Amino acid sequence: MISNEVIDKLAAIVGTENISTDTKSLVSGSRDCYYFSPVLIPQLDNKTAEVIVRPENQQQLKAIIQLAVKNRIPITPRGAGTGNYGQGVPLADGILVNTRRMNRLIEVDAEHALVEGGIGLWQVEKAAREVGGELRMYPSTVITASAAGFITGGSGGVGSIHWGLLSEPGNIRSAKILTIEEEPQEILLDTPEELVKILHNCGLTAFVTEVDFALAPRTEWHQYILAFDDIESAVFAGEQLAYDDSLRKRLCSVMESPIPSYFKALVKRNACPEGKSVLFLMTDLAPAGLAHYLASLRATTSFYQPPPTDGERGFQISDFTWNHTTLWAMKADPQLTYLQDAFDRERLHEQIALRKQKFGDQIHLHIEFLKNRGQVSPGGLSIVRFQDRDQLWEIIEYCESIGMRIANPHTHYLDEDSRWYNPAFLAAKQAWDPQNLLNPGHLLSLETAV
Ligand SMILES: Cc1cc2nc3c(=O)[nH]c(=O)nc-3n(C[C@H](O)[C@H](O)[C@H](O)COP(=O)(O)OP(=O)(O)OC[C@H]3O[C@@H](n4cnc5c(N)ncnc54)[C@H](O)[C@@H]3O)c2cc1C
Repeated sequence: MISNEVIDKLAAIVGTENISTDTKSLVSGSRDCYYFSPVLIPQLDNKTAEVIVRPENQQQLKAIIQLAVKNRIPITPRGAGTGNYGQGVPLADGILVNTRRMNRLIEVDAEHALVEGGIGLWQVEKAAREVGGELRMYPSTVITASAAGFITGGSGGVGSIHWGLLSEPGNIRSAKILTIEEEPQEILLDTPEELVKILHNCGLTAFVTEVDFALAPRTEWHQYILAFDDIESAVFAGEQLAYDDSLRKRLCSVMESPIPSYFKALVKRNACPEGKSVLFLMTDLAPAGLAHYLASLRATTSFYQPPPTDGERGFQISDFTWNHTTLWAMKADPQLTYLQDAFDRERLHEQIALRKQKFGDQIHLHIEFLKNRGQVSPGGLSIVRFQDRDQLWEIIEYCESIGMRIANPHTHYLDEDSRWYNPAFLAAKQAWDPQNLLNPGHLLSLETAV
């Protein structure tokens, strides 16, 4: 239990208006989007921090870390709270540090954007576009998510079909961290070998204070939804378009019927015709240029939007892709949840057929084509009609037995599967957070070691 003396010291660091200890703020401020998993809900629903602080700058953050370490108090970093695995939920009470006020845009030109960790990604995208660049990739939560939350909590997103995942060397040029020690060290990570110690590990190794994003050249994107009579034709079209390097793309997603029917805002626009499977495409080509790519595909264009001319964001089909697909599905039918599944590019059709044969309509296909280690391949966020935990684990085991890769989003233990994919993580955790105070409880190996 945090003493009143520590609370007073925290208030002195950030100012009384930037500290919360009332139950309502603690409950809402401690939650993230773990409700995407019906398995995680009962495990995490009553977990809250004892105090939430909102530092404005790195000096304040450093003072908070010093105080936490001196008093052996757990400390959890928080951006916008859109993480899906409960990875940002404080499991051992303590201090939750909301970073959203640490949001300076430090430097931006067409090549890169150097920002503080708490800045919103949309602000970065907007600033980048003003100087002739754009984010190489962003999560479908771009409007809300923070820079540090994305690089530590996320993996990739819109743009990954061309640029690969966050972990692809060069996408993140560098990041600055603070270690969790009585004298926190400020360390600049600027090689792929160093950066891998913080990417997609849910902020368990260090506090990220600054991120330097490499940018892509600004492009005017045309948005399309293509409708197909059956899912096989949609998948085939996805392969043709996704694997064709001559077609520049920011997004290529395939969804099986009835998933498109969950997208109420698109159904209203007649963009998702009843009973059809769909393909979402963002490309730099206007319809005349795209026509020959579509000539041999059995597709009907059900939605087209040219690039906005007013510099505003406008309607974005990406708001229905990546894990927003799951969000729309859950809104339409609360019994639905998801899997993070990756197919073998060479065995895609076989794996789809095998899984369909075994689980039928328990699973519907949602593929996001993305580049991984230089090759575009079919990743997935399949929609699952939830029965119970055993059903999910049976599906996961079966998928793995037929050569698919699953990153299980129904456990908050990151080392239970491939999300904790690099042994360098654990060494970094031990070096930078020797007392395991940074967001404890999310690593099975450290729990059982206690
Ligand atoms: C509808 C929906 C769609 C999504 N789509 C995508 C997608 O397309 N691609 C994708 O990769 N993810 C996606 N996600 C997951 C999530 O949005 C991303 O991971 C997002 O970028 C997280 O940003 P955030 O600011 O909300 O982070 P938070 O949820 O606040 O934090 C995420 C993790 O990072 C840690 N963290 C936060 N800030 C820091 C810091 N300064 N230092 C160290 N650790 C820190 C937290 O402790 C937590 O473990 C989606 C989630 C939802 C709910």
